[in-house]
Amino acid sequence: MTLDEARALDAADPLRSFRDRFALPEGVIYLDGNSLGPLPRATAPALGDMIERQWGERLIRSWNEGWIEAPRRIGGKIATLIGAGADEVIVADSTSANLFKLIVAALRLDPKRKTVVSELGNFPTDLHIAEGAVGCVPGAVLKAVPRAEIGAALGDDTALLLLTHVHYKTAERFDMAAWSEKAHVAGALVLWDLSHSAGAVPIDLNGSNADLAVGCGYKYLNGGPGAPAFLHVHTKWQDRLASPLSGWMGHAAPFAFEDGYRPATGMTRWLAGTPPMLGLAGLEASVDLSLEADLGQLWAKSVRLFDAFAAIGKAIGLDCVSPADPARRGSHISFRHPQAYALCQALISRGVIGDFRDPDILRFGLTPLYLGFEDVVRARAILRDVLATGAYLDPEFSKRNAVT
Ligand SMILES: *Cc1c(COP(=O)(O)O)cnc(C)c1O
Repeated sequence: MTLDEARALDAADPLRSFRDRFALPEGVIYLDGNSLGPLPRATAPALGDMIERQWGERLIRSWNEGWIEAPRRIGGKIATLIGAGADEVIVADSTSANLFKLIVAALRLDPKRKTVVSELGNFPTDLHIAEGAVGCVPGAVLKAVPRAEIGAALGDDTALLLLTHVHYKTAERFDMAAWSEKAHVAGALVLWDLSHSAGAVPIDLNGSNADLAVGCGYKYLNGGPGAPAFLHVHTKWQDRLASPLSGWMGHAAPFAFEDGYRPATGMTRWLAGTPPMLGLAGLEASVDLSLEADLGQLWAKSVRLFDAFAAIGKAIGLDCVSPADPARRGSHISFRHPQAYALCQALISRGVIGDFRDPDILRFGLTPLYLGFEDVVRARAILRDVLATGAYLDPEFSKRNAVT
C-alpha cells in the first residue's frame, strides 16, 4: 500500500470523522488502544461538569439526580455493544474484582460441581483471581490446561468454563457460540472475559448463549486509566447467583440500613460499595461516543487495517503470531521477535506506540474508531527503518520499565 492509496482509503472511510473526536497528540501513531484507549474530546467537559456542577454545586443531591442510576444506565449502554439485554449488564469495580464475584457465585450454584476450567496462558489476572476464588469455596479447584485440552477438561465436575474471548498476546479469538455450547453440554456455565474485544470485535452474548461476562472500560471503550469495568449475567441466572462481595450497594434496600444482607433483584446485587462517580463520568462519555459508530463498519475496518499491517510484517520478515482468518482473531496484531522489547522501545522513541508482552511479543492495537490507513503506512516506514539500521540495538532501549 502506498501513501496515496492509504490516503484514498482514509478519505472514503465512513468512520473518518471519529478521529477528530479524540485528542490524539501530534507526531504520535498510537497503536496501543487495546491497552489504554486514548482521550475522547468529550471526556474533559464531562468530568468538568461532574466535578464543578454535579459535585461542587449539587453536592449530595446529585445521588438522586442521576448518580445512583449510573452503574445500571452505563451498563445498559455497554449491553448494546456486546449483544446483551439492557438489564443484563452493570458497571462496577475492576475486571479482576468482577471475575472474583462471578467465579465464586458460579462455584456456589451446584455443590456437586467444584471445578473451574480455564486456559494456561490466559490473561494473568484471570488465572490469579480464579486461584483466589477457588480458595474461598471448600473443595473447589482450578484446572488450567493448554487450549487444545480445554474440551477434554470439561466434565460432570465442571462448574464454570472461564475463557478470554480474544487472547491478549496472540489475538486468537474463541468461537463464543461453539464454546458456550461445549460448556453447556458438560452441564457447566461459561464466563467470557471481553477485555480485549468489547468495543472493536463483534460480540453477541445472547446470540451465543453466554451465561456470564466481564470486561474492561479502559481498553477499546476508552473510559480512561483504571476506568470502572462491566459485568454481565444472563437473565436466567440473575435470581440464582449472588455476589460474595455482599456490600450495601447490592442490598435490596441499602437505605433501610438493615443488619442482615438481602441481595437486590436484577444486576444491582453485583454492586459492592459506592459507585466511583468521577470514573463513571469518563466511561459514560466514551461509551456514548462508541455508540455513535456502526459496529459492522468498525469490524470491517479493523479487518482491513490488520491485513495492511500483516502485509507489512511479511514484507520485512516479521513473524506474525495472530490468525490470518478474521473470524479467529481480535483487533490487534502481534509479532514474535527475539528483541521485541528493544524494538518496541525504539519504535516508541520515534512516536510509534505499541507494546511488548513478555517474553518476545511485539503487539500493535489496530483500533478502527480513530486509526487511519495512513497511520499504518507511516508506522511501516519507521518499523522498517528501525529494523534495517539496527537502531533498536542501542542499549538504551533494553532498560526495562515497570510497565511494559
Ligand atoms: C486488561 C485485562 C484485564 C485487566 O483487569 P483489571 O482488573 O482491569 O486490571 C483482565 N482480563 C483481561 C483478559 C484483560 O485483557
